[in-house]
Amino acid sequence: MASQQHEKNEIERLDREYTLGTWTRQADFNPTQIADTEGPRIVTADGDSILDFSSQYVCTSLGYDAERIADAVNEQIRTVPYVNPGWSTEPRARLSEKLAEITPGSLKKTFYSTSGTEANEVAFKIARSYTGKHKILSRYRSYHGATAASLSASGDPRRVVQGPEIQPEVPGMVKGPDPYAYGSSLDPEQSLEYIDEMLGLEGDTVAGVLVEPLVGSNGVLTPPDDYLPRLKEIAHDHGALLICDEVMTGFGRTGEWFASTLYETEPDIITMAKGLTGSYQPLAATTVTEEVAEHFEEHLLNQGHTFSGHPTACAAGLAAIETYEEENLVDRAKEMGAYLKTELEALADRHPSVGERRGVGLHQGIELTRSEEKRVPFERREDKMSGEPTVLNEVGASALSEGVYFYTSVNTIVVTPPLTIDEDDVDEAIAALDVALEISD
Ligand code: PLP
Repeated sequence: MASQQHEKNEIERLDREYTLGTWTRQADFNPTQIADTEGPRIVTADGDSILDFSSQYVCTSLGYDAERIADAVNEQIRTVPYVNPGWSTEPRARLSEKLAEITPGSLKKTFYSTSGTEANEVAFKIARSYTGKHKILSRYRSYHGATAASLSASGDPRRVVQGPEIQPEVPGMVKGPDPYAYGSSLDPEQSLEYIDEMLGLEGDTVAGVLVEPLVGSNGVLTPPDDYLPRLKEIAHDHGALLICDEVMTGFGRTGEWFASTLYETEPDIITMAKGLTGSYQPLAATTVTEEVAEHFEEHLLNQGHTFSGHPTACAAGLAAIETYEEENLVDRAKEMGAYLKTELEALADRHPSVGERRGVGLHQGIELTRSEEKRVPFERREDKMSGEPTVLNEVGASALSEGVYFYTSVNTIVVTPPLTIDEDDVDEAIAALDVALEISD
């Protein structure tokens, strides 16, 4: 026991000493060691079992027991662990075919990379080549990635927290308003009209309109049902492609394979990552319609990564999709989502500090408020990167001490458990929130 404790302390010390932590001042980088996982739970080196209602940045949609993926990865590592993307491999070919099958409409051909960030960068390049235009229009309440272009296309506070000398913005990125009836002075209809007008005022120079169909880390914003189809029409009227960033919402999370399907829209480009392999391997994808793909028959697709279509990652992707299918997890997300919605609404009725519940399927969230009438947030967007603890952080910490982990972001508790959860797991999570929300009530 004493030696286990010693080893745990040693691992955490080594990590602090030699690893640079993400999105943080290094003085605040103090991670807890995770030594095991089971089902929808992570287990600390101290043996604490934590029910994970975040799916770790909305990644582990399959939970941690997907044997089929472990076997497929193991088998691939032993046969063809890697060749460069100029060669063909079975897992890449079969995964591309499968993605053509499960993505909406005529979406057909896929370009691979290793992160959601890169998948969006690739989408920008494709949209620019196809339209011959250069700008990207996105929205303020969005996160599209961490590199120069995809962060510049994000509205997230992470884009603006450092000045231009450290984090210059890529030119040609314009931002429009969000479908955020609860917290914006524009209603969703007006926000669409505004975007329509903006595209014209930009002189129809926009190549791609980039949106998360159902916003994730910037507040789980849920548009009205006709928003996405109308946005596509508006984009096309101005000669721009519709790019749906489904890095979070893809692979069953909303009770459909893709949120675009939920909103009966066929985007010109879909980007995805996270749930694609259930995050058993890093893999991202940019899938385009047949028409867009056709353009590149005669035009150079001047893009590539050493790890594009990595065979082991593609084997994980294929096995993950087979697991979603075999275990009927897309329908399960719909059913469990309905139960979760009822329970979150009842929770909202019990707690005055819950302003609004939003979301669909197992992609839901609650926005907190200091005053029900005035909708005053506990955490402003700027606070997110200040490093100072907020009431939202305290609520999250309290839920964690009750044994349930939630991702908290921009005044919202994001509720995105693995698709494998059952009603008991929901009850456990709600009980933890009941305790935690006493802090904000
Ligand atoms: N797009 C969305 C909607 C995301 O939520 C994220 C990450 O959270 C990204 C893009 C970036 O993906 P990655 O962190 O894999 O680069």
